[in-house]
Amino acid sequence: MRNPNSLLKEYFGYNEFRPNQLEVIEHTLSGQDSVVVMPTGGGKSICFQIAALMLEDLTLVISPLISLMKDQVDSLTTNGINAAFFNSSQSDFEKREILNACMAGEIKLLYISPESLVMAFDNWLKSLKISLIAIDEAHCVSMWGHDFRPEYGQIKNLRAFLGKTPFMALTATADKITRRDITKQLGLNEPEIFLSSFNRPNLSLAVKGHVPKKNKVTEIINFIKNRSDEAGIIYSLSRKETEQWSETFNNAGISSRFYHAGLNPETRAQVQDGFINDNYQIICATVAFGMGIDKSNVRWIIHTNLPKNIEGYYQEIGRAGRDGMPADTLLFYNFRDIILLNDFIKDSPFKDTYVEKINRMVNYAEATSCRRNILLSYFGEFNDTKCNNCDICENPPEIIDGLTQAQMALSGILRTNQQVGVNMLINLLRGAKTMDIFEKKYNEIKTYGVGSNYSFYDWQHYINQMINYGYLEIAYDDHLKLVVTDAGRNLLKPDAEISLSRPPEKKSKAVKQTAKKQKAVAPKNDLTQALKKYRKEIAQKNSVPAYVIFNDSTLNEIVTQKPNNHKLLLDIPGMGKVKVERFGDDILKIVNDLNSIVDLDKLPSHIQTFKLYEKKLDIQEISQKRDLSENTIYGHLSKLYEEGYDVNLHKFVSEYEVNQVKEVRRKLKSKHQLKPVHDALEGQLNYIQIGLALTIISKIEQDN
Ligand code: ADP
Ligand code: ZN
Repeated sequence: MRNPNSLLKEYFGYNEFRPNQLEVIEHTLSGQDSVVVMPTGGGKSICFQIAALMLEDLTLVISPLISLMKDQVDSLTTNGINAAFFNSSQSDFEKREILNACMAGEIKLLYISPESLVMAFDNWLKSLKISLIAIDEAHCVSMWGHDFRPEYGQIKNLRAFLGKTPFMALTATADKITRRDITKQLGLNEPEIFLSSFNRPNLSLAVKGHVPKKNKVTEIINFIKNRSDEAGIIYSLSRKETEQWSETFNNAGISSRFYHAGLNPETRAQVQDGFINDNYQIICATVAFGMGIDKSNVRWIIHTNLPKNIEGYYQEIGRAGRDGMPADTLLFYNFRDIILLNDFIKDSPFKDTYVEKINRMVNYAEATSCRRNILLSYFGEFNDTKCNNCDICENPPEIIDGLTQAQMALSGILRTNQQVGVNMLINLLRGAKTMDIFEKKYNEIKTYGVGSNYSFYDWQHYINQMINYGYLEIAYDDHLKLVVTDAGRNLLKPDAEISLSRPPEKKSKAVKQTAKKQKAVAPKNDLTQALKKYRKEIAQKNSVPAYVIFNDSTLNEIVTQKPNNHKLLLDIPGMGKVKVERFGDDILKIVNDLNSIVDLDKLPSHIQTFKLYEKKLDIQEISQKRDLSENTIYGHLSKLYEEGYDVNLHKFVSEYEVNQVKEVRRKLKSKHQLKPVHDALEGQLNYIQIGLALTIISKIEQDN
């Protein structure tokens, strides 16, 4: 039996397994069932793919999403592994061909949709020799999961029928109820549970609260402009918003498409394919977008509103950076979002659960400690070291004594008989001279203007915290007026204490810094562009997404390491044997062609000139490219000639002219000065030609 590590290298080009991958493979090879829980992008597929390569017969992969199936099969075939899929999108003829190939043992992995499985089970499935059943998106079997598919129920019969065949159920859903239900509903046989960390350290996390719509637009546009060429997804709550955002971007000269469940299936497929194939940089979408997308080079995710729960949010941001390279996520939210979300669920029988989930989401958004730790603790992983890749870690809030501010706010609310909302309260505290303040005579109450030394923004920050800590409540059913809670009233007592965080600087450093970091790992140079272009051409020729050929992280490794032979190319993570065989020569040629230019500035100046001379650039062009005078370039050519480089000086000075110089020089005493030669020739040759002629002469003399 082949060694799993060498298969990983040979077929996928990776040097080592990620945590749990090898364990899952070995457990499967020993014939036992397993449940594999890994976050999106964690590397679930490798588990059953390598196992499949090691097992004798066919591995059947049950997968609910047709688009994903095709992607995986494309990736496998590109890596030289025989794989196929079987689903309702195919003709009877195609299906028969595939079955024949399976019977003949020519296919290692067969992907099948749950619908087709139901029919296959009564039909041909029983006559195939099957070594392993892998169930992708296994949470679909559970009513508790977020994507219940009744056809998954059939798998239980398959389990009973294939008594000894190992089953591997895979999911990114972390919650315990779903996990337990998977075992039960699939009828798994005392499976081992492999639970991986949900941490995705390459995703930066940033949140911005209460940003006015106009500023939000500017901030998002700037965010995108800092990431030209990089694919990203913008999630919004409503269909209408996705359309508005897309229009905003298109008006700002950024091409984008929108996607939501209201579009017809063809348009949806078209938008999705365009995104996968890098034709559209940005998709403005509802959460309906992304389920079937395995695109590894999504570099950023923005949420324009607060998502309804942390599970969904984590899954959505998880679609960025699947290739392990840095990716940025940014979440905007405000109180309107909270109202809207609560409104959606107000008639649901599960209202209490949903409210609780919204509250956890709000806590995350309003966090004053490391955001990653909050997310991970939600999934049951505890960690108290700072992640240093979230806005809080990079710009920790300063905690101050907030009693004065809190008491001012409370007094303002109570003296107006709890009739003010956040904005009115702030205007009152700051002594604003607005119409409604005067109409309501708020300028006459004692608190009017006491908080004028804090900005509007500061006040928003303090009041939001008081709401989050439960000192104030928002009356969602009564014009969003602020209500003081019992805890709030206690703050008016003499020995009360309250700590608040100081308002952060307005511009979040985290977003800017991660943008910089990103630039550092994704160098945008000629070689990157050339490799991207090549990748796109090959992808189009083979009708597969570009990242199937090689992903961004592989591309960056090639750019950094600049391999110059097949062996070095094989060392690049992501370049397996078959890929090197197929694309190696082309890639090496591109690297070689551009390498000379890419690293030019490290070479001595005259050698840099030589590299351009070799490319048949004329003197004027070289001088322009190098930003040096033509005289200097001629000087370089002389030096190169002296050092034996293949430089033809006779292009600039003929044999005849060289002989003229030789003649004149014989008569003159000073052998190396230009002026006497120039004068003697009465200006027939210019100084450059004389200089070059002298170089040729002295080289001939030396060589003799
Ligand atoms: P999941 O199905 O869990 O969302 P995938 O199986 O699609 O994740 O893997 C995500 C990415 O990680 C893919 O680009 C895959 O090639 C890569 N990957 C998986 N295992 C490894 C590994 N051991 N080393 C390097 N990259 C890996
Ligand atoms: Zn952090």
